[in-house]
Amino acid sequence: AGGQDGEVGKAQRAAAEVGTEPTIFSRIIDRSVPATILYEDDECLVFRDVAPQAPVHFLVIPKRPIPRLSRVGPQDAQLLGHLMVVAARTAQAEGLSDGYRLVINDGKHGAQSVYHLHLHVLGGRQMSWPPG
Ligand code: 5GP
Repeated sequence: AGGQDGEVGKAQRAAAEVGTEPTIFSRIIDRSVPATILYEDDECLVFRDVAPQAPVHFLVIPKRPIPRLSRVGPQDAQLLGHLMVVAARTAQAEGLSDGYRLVINDGKHGAQSVYHLHLHVLGGRQMSWPPG
């Protein structure tokens, strides 16, 4: 329970500074912070989560720093679709043939901690429902 409170606390603190500065993910994109990168193209980057919550846990992010899902508009539809297609293809490349879960946390109640839009892809074990 302590770990989860820690994550929620971090997310709530992060919510206070939405959009005010570049996040750690901008520094992963420009390679000033290292990450294990699984895929890259002009629009997106895929890398392993530093604190995996499943045997396979990676993040799919747009290179353009959209802070959160609730900020997207119709002009972002193609990019968002692309992120999902890349998520599915990378899941296949990671061998997740028995399925996986996609998660987007938005804002305080979603426990978002990094305000650069990202899709979590989690797999390699049985997921439960509902999520916490
Ligand atoms: P959120 O809670 O915002 O949906 O998820 C942010 C995710 O980013 C968390 O799962 C966290 O472990 C991951 N993360 C935070 N900082 C770093 C980092 O520096 N490198 C990597 N690879 N992942 C990170």
